[in-house]
Amino acid sequence: MESLVFDEELSGGQKVRSAKRTTAPQENVPKPSLLQQAITALMIIGPLAGLIAAIVIFFGHGITLVDLLLALVFYAITGHGVTAGYHRMVTHRSFVAKRWVKIALAISGSLAFEGAVATWAAQHRRHHAYSDVIGDPHSPYLYGQSFKERAKGAFHSHIGWLFKAQSVDVEKWAPDIAKDKDLMFISKIFPLLTIISFTLPALLGYLFTFTAAGALGGFIWGGLVRICLLQHSTFAVNSACHLWGKKPFITREGDEARNFAPLAIMSMGENWHNWHHSVPRSARHGVKRYQIDTTARLIWILEKFKLIKDVHWPTKEQINSRTKMYKLETSGMQ
Ligand SMILES: [Zn+2]
Ligand SMILES: [Zn+2]
Repeated sequence: MESLVFDEELSGGQKVRSAKRTTAPQENVPKPSLLQQAITALMIIGPLAGLIAAIVIFFGHGITLVDLLLALVFYAITGHGVTAGYHRMVTHRSFVAKRWVKIALAISGSLAFEGAVATWAAQHRRHHAYSDVIGDPHSPYLYGQSFKERAKGAFHSHIGWLFKAQSVDVEKWAPDIAKDKDLMFISKIFPLLTIISFTLPALLGYLFTFTAAGALGGFIWGGLVRICLLQHSTFAVNSACHLWGKKPFITREGDEARNFAPLAIMSMGENWHNWHHSVPRSARHGVKRYQIDTTARLIWILEKFKLIKDVHWPTKEQINSRTKMYKLETSGMQ
């Protein structure tokens, strides 16, 4: 039953949206062990400590051009690896990439320190199947309506959920990925890729300057600071983009996904989350002209160079039919 919901959701079809809203069946998922929780805490606190260290160093010594470039370039490459690769290509099948492009995007996303591609995608499909009802791994709305409960929900949706028991069954939620040997191999070597994600900017920092300070700067800015900002940008799509912003498009009842404009650049277009929940398979999330969506731009370039095909671009009719105001106006005219 669950996989049926997921398939229709992915297709962006109308069927699931008129279907009755379902919550997840009870599942006995073991709580993460203390060791697992400690590793998760380290993965979040480590980059945050790096960000704080970088701010302190910045006020003492400023930032070198090499540090800044390493931070920006690694942010752009690994960030778009998550948004175009993990999210739009693997999870929602918004386009089909040539094999080496698929591998490159999945590896870039793995360098973002957000978990292996197969589990990330399975978890995210679960979020779409049960958005803001029981079963959603990171909804901010499951604790209650009082101020305290809402604050607790906001924390849960941002990072708290990472420490809780989660059902991530790749076979069930992502059978297509489980069959993809390339993606499963990249998932398997995720720990190695996280080490590369830290050591590569440090190595480049050294090669550009031939100094230990250059290597340390690369490690802090291209590694820790970049990862911290990227992590919280992704977390904010789960928290802020379900809490604040506009809901111009039709989504399923109770689905609180919103378009939260301030996150546009940092989240590379993932903030136009209301449209994304309205038509999950759409390759473009910022469907209005002024809505910056660098991920969609990258997909457009890849398509122009014939590196990807079967791109699910939103059509004008689709946008109109999913717009609440348009629906109201046209039904009023009849
Ligand atoms: Zn969402
Ligand atoms: Zn999604």
